[in-house]
Amino acid sequence: ELTHTGWQLDNSYSRLPEIFFSRFSVNPVPAPKLVMFNEQLAATLGLDSEELTSEDGIAILAGNAVPKGTIPLAQAYAGHQFGHFTMLGDGRALLIGEQLTPTGKRLDIQLKGSGRTPYSRGGDGRAALKPMLREYLISEAMHGLGIPTTRSLAVVETGETVRRETILPGAIMTRIADSHLRVGTFQYAARFGSTEDVKALADYALERHFPHIQDVPNRYLALFQEVIKRQAALLAKWQVAGFIHGVMNTDNMAISGETIDYGPCAFMNSYDPKTVFSSIDAQGRYAYGNQPMIAGWNLARFGESLLPLLHDIPGEAVEMAQRQLSNYIELFESHWLNGMRRKLGLFNEEATDKILVEELLNLMHANVADYTNTFRALTFDKLQGNNFFTTPEFSEWHRSWQTRLHRQEESIEAIQQLMRDSNPAVIARNHRVEEALEAAEARGDYRVLHQLLAVLANPYAHSPEQEIYAQPPGPTSGLYQTFCG
Ligand code: AMP
Ligand code: MG
Ligand code: MG
Repeated sequence: ELTHTGWQLDNSYSRLPEIFFSRFSVNPVPAPKLVMFNEQLAATLGLDSEELTSEDGIAILAGNAVPKGTIPLAQAYAGHQFGHFTMLGDGRALLIGEQLTPTGKRLDIQLKGSGRTPYSRGGDGRAALKPMLREYLISEAMHGLGIPTTRSLAVVETGETVRRETILPGAIMTRIADSHLRVGTFQYAARFGSTEDVKALADYALERHFPHIQDVPNRYLALFQEVIKRQAALLAKWQVAGFIHGVMNTDNMAISGETIDYGPCAFMNSYDPKTVFSSIDAQGRYAYGNQPMIAGWNLARFGESLLPLLHDIPGEAVEMAQRQLSNYIELFESHWLNGMRRKLGLFNEEATDKILVEELLNLMHANVADYTNTFRALTFDKLQGNNFFTTPEFSEWHRSWQTRLHRQEESIEAIQQLMRDSNPAVIARNHRVEEALEAAEARGDYRVLHQLLAVLANPYAHSPEQEIYAQPPGPTSGLYQTFCG
């Protein structure tokens, strides 16, 4: 046990009923080597970067030691995976504790890939280097885009190999989250616990994420409503950015409204609602265009778990939950449309805006146009050198857009500024991500990854050095597939 300046750990989760977790000690790794470290994030957590990157600090990030006085644990949860309910839990993660930050936040510090736990089933409890680097990179890219997300503090190579389809270098990532409460945590409580357990979990979630709704008439209905609101806002941001999560199982949906669990996620290149990158999603259940609906399905599972708390009469409870849930799509649509309005430089609302947006998307789909770069071209009025922009259909759409822009009071400068702030120059494109991870894994060369991270940290900078990162993959790169770690 080691003391480190900066650690201010609490373990509120460990005060939940015992069914929610298993305490366990560390699974040491032989040769920890720190390969990624997020100094800025460490500072916001109130952690001392110098100490954390020293040998003693790295021992903690590798799960070889724990900060003094904390209670490390693995969390229990269940979930619907591709529609099928199953018992899960942290099979390869360790919650070190909750860091109380200098600005008064409480954030989970979790090691991912830290070894077997009571929930590991057949798994080895370990993670391979590439997927951990991938989560580090994409979660930081999401943060750069302004999308709520877990963050990445560090990646440590373990010095061990893990056996997947081939033998790969192993690693542990340190994940920072508002919490790791999932829809699946509630499903677990509802299925395997008592009503008292569900209530304890709901009270905990309220206190931790929605302290402002302690004293309302039906606080558990309010909890449902707040989670619906956050998911509607989150899903709109995903859709607006062209982000595809890839495994929207109920255990991968956070109550906090953060994006969590980066597995086979990716950003869309050319616009197509059917876009799927994940190798394990042959049916396209979690395709780009399905995501809002799937989130609604997951929220229904959350509502079901809360039913015993909503009303003494089961029929009434179901009706209450259904009424809440029916808000979700409306909320999502309105966030989404407002997000798309901003991308098109629209400050005010007109009834036909949705049609204007959908017409553009349909044209992009029909012309295999790059989603991000089409909006960039519109932002900077760079419509030369691309066949899509010379089609009569696009010209017609462009005229109606221009007419629409002129029906609002804002100046051209203000419109352009809004568009620059709403349309990223760069997204984490698969071929760039792969190139960076490959250099790190195969050659131990982390420079490519650092350069990409730096560019993705400021996606709205529209600076010249971003230009090469803005290119979509060439026609030779073929179909990209993403894999779970
Ligand atoms: P995920 O696909 O990352 O959402 O993980 C689904 C479930 O599988 C969770 O319960 C994980 O803890 C578990 N899991 C994933 N990989 C491993 C592994 N290598 N060893 C043990 N459990 C794992
Ligand atoms: Mg998961
Ligand atoms: Mg995962």
